[in-house]
Amino acid sequence: MSRKRMIYEGKAKILYEGPEPNTLIQYFKDDATAFNAEKKAVLDGKGVLNNRISEFMMTRLGGVGIPNHFIKRLNMREQLIKKVEIIPLEVIVRNVAAGTMSKRLGIAEGTQLPRAIVEFCLKDDALGDPLVSEEHIAAFSWAQPHEMDELIALSLRVNDFMSGLFAGVGIKLVDFKLEFGRFFENDMQRVILADEISPDSCRLWDLETNEKLDKDRFRRDLGGVTEAYSEVARRLGIIKESQQGANVVDISGASK
Ligand code: 5GP
Repeated sequence: MSRKRMIYEGKAKILYEGPEPNTLIQYFKDDATAFNAEKKAVLDGKGVLNNRISEFMMTRLGGVGIPNHFIKRLNMREQLIKKVEIIPLEVIVRNVAAGTMSKRLGIAEGTQLPRAIVEFCLKDDALGDPLVSEEHIAAFSWAQPHEMDELIALSLRVNDFMSGLFAGVGIKLVDFKLEFGRFFENDMQRVILADEISPDSCRLWDLETNEKLDKDRFRRDLGGVTEAYSEVARRLGIIKESQQGANVVDISGASK
C-alpha cells in the first residue's frame, strides 16, 4: 500500500509521515467499527467517500475562518494535513437527542434540544471514551482553560456553519464529534480542528423523512451504508448524480 513511514494506525485511518516537516498524510481506510471495535466490517469505498467529504467540510470551514489541519487532498484515499498534538478529548455537539444522550437521559431519539449542547469524552478506547466534565478536564490537565474556551467556541461555530450547510441540501445535522490539536508554528501554539468530518463522525438525517444517512446504518444493521454516504456526497455536490451508485472507488480516477 505504501512505503511511507507509518506513525499511527487507528480504526478508520492511518497516519504516515508527511513530505515536509510538520505535515502528515492521513489515509482513509474502508474499515468500519462500532461499539468500541466489537463490531467490524470492510465497506467498499467508504474511505474514498470520507476523504472527499472531509476535504469538502474542512475546506469550507477554513473558508469561514475556522482553523483546521487540512492542507490538500493527495489522491482518492489520502490527504496532506498539518501535524498537531491531539488534545485527548472528543468534543460532541448535539442539536437533536440521539445515541448515547437518548440512552443516558431517557430522551426520545429525535427530540429537538432547547439549544446546542456540547459534551466532552476522554479519548481512551480501553475505557470506551467515557463522558467527562470540565472539572475532570481541568483537574487532570487534559486541556488548559484557555484551550477549553477555544474548543467550545470553535465547536459551536462549526455547528452553526454545518447546520446551515446541511439544511441547504435537505439534511438535518443531529450531532457530531470533533477532535482538536495543538499546532506549533514559529514559537506560537494554537488550537486547530483535526481528524475528520464525515458520516462516520456525524449523525445526518434526511430533513423530510428522517432517514439515516450516517454510520448508524452500520451500527444498527440498516444496510446501504456506502449508498447513504454517497447520497451525502451527491447532495453536497461532491459527486455527480451519474456517479452515485457507480463503484465509488472509481469516482476520482486512479485506483489504489
Ligand atoms: P454518541 O455519543 O451518541 O454515540 O455519538 C454522538 C456523535 O458523535 C455521533 O455523531 C457519533 O457518530 C459521534 N461519535 C462519538 N464517538 C465517536 C467515535 O469514537 N468515533 C467517531 N467516528 N464518531 C464518534
